[in-house]
Amino acid sequence: MQHRIVVLGAGYTGAVVAGRLAKRLRREDVTVTLVNAEPDFVERVRLHQLAAGQDLRPRPLREVFAGTGVEPRLAKVTGVDVDRRTVAVTDEDGDGELAYDTLVYALGSGWDTQGVPGVAEHAHEIAGRPGALRLRERLAGLDAGRTVVVVGAGLTGLEAAAEIAEARPDLDVALAVRGGLGDWLSPKGREHLRKVFGRLGITVHEHTDVTGVEADRVTTADGRAVPAAVTVWTTGFAVHPIAKATALEVTGTGQIVVDGTMRSVSHPDVYAVGDAAMATGPGGRPLRMSCASGTPAAWQAADAIAARLTGGKLPAASIRYFNQCISLGRKEGLIQYVTADDRAVRAALTGRLAAVYKELVCKGAAWGVANPTLGLPVRRRRVTREGAAAGSAVKAPA
Ligand SMILES: Cc1cc2nc3c(=O)[nH]c(=O)nc-3n(C[C@H](O)[C@H](O)[C@H](O)COP(=O)(O)OP(=O)(O)OC[C@H]3O[C@@H](n4cnc5c(N)ncnc54)[C@H](O)[C@@H]3O)c2cc1C
Repeated sequence: MQHRIVVLGAGYTGAVVAGRLAKRLRREDVTVTLVNAEPDFVERVRLHQLAAGQDLRPRPLREVFAGTGVEPRLAKVTGVDVDRRTVAVTDEDGDGELAYDTLVYALGSGWDTQGVPGVAEHAHEIAGRPGALRLRERLAGLDAGRTVVVVGAGLTGLEAAAEIAEARPDLDVALAVRGGLGDWLSPKGREHLRKVFGRLGITVHEHTDVTGVEADRVTTADGRAVPAAVTVWTTGFAVHPIAKATALEVTGTGQIVVDGTMRSVSHPDVYAVGDAAMATGPGGRPLRMSCASGTPAAWQAADAIAARLTGGKLPAASIRYFNQCISLGRKEGLIQYVTADDRAVRAALTGRLAAVYKELVCKGAAWGVANPTLGLPVRRRRVTREGAAAGSAVKAPA
């Protein structure tokens, strides 16, 4: 009987796990089903570009996985029953169920309104393609001189503000920052950011805590009202509530707690990767929601699953950070080099070279989805009876 591997989510991490498993395991021994709500692989790291009016190359999952042994399934996941080992899905034919022996949960995340009044009703988001497309339409219809306020100045907020300001110099773009602009960056990185934002005409409201969003303004903790024809909310990501509704061990925010092989600490037949997982990285710190750590975590998960199913050696790689790659429009960028545990060091690459570097990183991430073993030849191995049994054991050993 074939071992049924079901991967939920065909984003940067789920797609890589599915593709890599299909390369590592004999086709006669496994089925690899990749469930995704959208028919395309979405380059999420470019959604600020999409919102600013650029077109992204379509990447239909059927084409990406043609001939690989991965079976894409277009459906929305609505629930997971880890006791019955089934996934509830809805597709154009209605409700259905998928049974699994090994599950990989990679549903990613969406925007985090943080319960701030008015955000859900009035603000825009770029955490997913539908939101980015709505913002694109809104910006396209916005008259010159109107104000766009981006709230949140993490990597996504910085990229969004710069991209919109560069694409629409006729708009008045502002950024609301809770602390100081880029205060986690090196002095060189911070200075460059200020220079580029100044050049793009972005107004930066530092030490500003936005506590409410209305149709035409944002309000702040210190009682100010900042005019905003459009508010873009980028204060972080929140995971989908599906995992939290299961018996899996999750964090308070709903991320699945995993060990160093990305295996659930409560259910050994379940793995989680990417934004949906809480994995410990260098220095004992949780891995940040990013492709930077999600992609190596996906390699780790796939190799661990394959090793367990085939009686092979578990991967021993540890995940570390090298840099934070920030696009600042199409012509500028900032590559902030970091320690293994993601703290900025002095060195930073700036300017057009940094923009080119970031573009190559984005291209490389999409290439890596279609080339999950990075082009290296891999031998497909046989799933052993013991491996299959161990891979779908019911409870993790204490
Ligand atoms: C604008 C923007 C810029 C970013 N830039 C960077 C960057 O420069 N560097 C970096 O490292 N990170 C960046 N990130 C973060 C990065 O995109 C995420 O951390 C990464 O995509 C997480 O990968 P994932 O596989 O966990 O989730 P995703 O890539 O989000 O994939 C999740 C998949 O699951 C699918 N899905 C979700 N719910 C369901 C459901 N119920 N049923 C079926 N399918 C479902 C989605 O359609 C999607 O295909 C950026 C994010 C954004 C929004």
